[in-house]
Amino acid sequence: MQALRLYGTHDLRLDEVPEPVPGPGEVLIRVEAAGICGTDRHLYLGEFPSTPPVTLGHEFSGIVTATGAGVALSPGTRVTCDPNIPCLTCPHCLRGRPNLCPNNRPTGVGRDGGFAPRALFPARNAIALPDDLHPHHGAFCEPLACTLHGMDRAALRAGERCLIIGGGVIGLLALQLARTAGAEVLMLTRSRAKQDLALSLGADHVAATPEQALQIWPQGAEAVIECAGVVDTLEAAPALTATGGRIVILGVLAKGTRVRIEPFDLLFREIQMLHSFLNPFTHARAAQMIAAGTISVVPLISRLLTLPEALAAIAHPAPAGEVRAIVVPQ
Ligand code: NAP
Repeated sequence: MQALRLYGTHDLRLDEVPEPVPGPGEVLIRVEAAGICGTDRHLYLGEFPSTPPVTLGHEFSGIVTATGAGVALSPGTRVTCDPNIPCLTCPHCLRGRPNLCPNNRPTGVGRDGGFAPRALFPARNAIALPDDLHPHHGAFCEPLACTLHGMDRAALRAGERCLIIGGGVIGLLALQLARTAGAEVLMLTRSRAKQDLALSLGADHVAATPEQALQIWPQGAEAVIECAGVVDTLEAAPALTATGGRIVILGVLAKGTRVRIEPFDLLFREIQMLHSFLNPFTHARAAQMIAAGTISVVPLISRLLTLPEALAAIAHPAPAGEVRAIVVPQ
């Protein structure tokens, strides 16, 4: 079968690979949908660690077609893949922080993933989805699970002000979670199209610049969720945060990137800077929310791509206004 494989920085190829065969404890799925994440572009650019050669694609779902020994899931079941495979024996795993496991080899990053017609992963990472769910919607479980962890860290209370920076899929999922939590939400993103989308998904306010955001909320927001992953927005975050508030950083800045932060300001206004990494214990909740239709994903799908089209899409920046491109590898 053909698979979209990363061989090194700037070296992504559509390549022929052997048909995967499930071993003990593994499931083989026919991939129905796989999202192209900002992290796939970071991987292509060498800004995020990976172990090439590897088939990319860590946001995917599909139908179980075969199982190895000891697997209870039945062929025909629609599942989402939790890509992270912590060792469950290191000190971080043992103290309930599996997202910090140094031995994690995530599917689609450290082992072959979902940009292929079929994908193999441990059955314990397969979470069942309803038979009648739209085949493309399961691809949103992984980004939603990561966003859920960030929103868990933000610990929003109803009535608080939540400012979300970045109108990509993570920001637009964070927006929906913040609204579900009863927060008043301001979305800061430069694109007019994404501002309109944010308003249609329930944002109370939108802004294109930090200055505009401060005109709307001069005292700042109790919670600021950074979902852009760029130096400018991270540096702008403290000034957008209310005294006593917190910043949750989901955005990934390339290794080695430095930002200018004024500790005096963080100290005197006791602003917390929290980071949110991966999806510890949130993937099943995300699957539940996608299955229940609590989160709108249809407006987040910008285009459907074949595998050859996905190669070009990952190798270039996303077109203006694009939220999520979904690869349909069949
Ligand atoms: P994305 O589609 O690239 O979205 C980022 C958004 O940031 C863009 O839509 C862009 O919108 C906005 N942006 C860029 N510069 C901006 C600026 N100066 N001011 C305001 N907005 C700006 O990426 P994504 O898939 O949503 O992911 C967001 C980030 O989270 C990425 O860095 C990704 O790697 C990271 N991520 C982290 C985790 C985790 O576990 N922590 C998990 C998944 C993804 P405009 O052009 O409209 O402004």
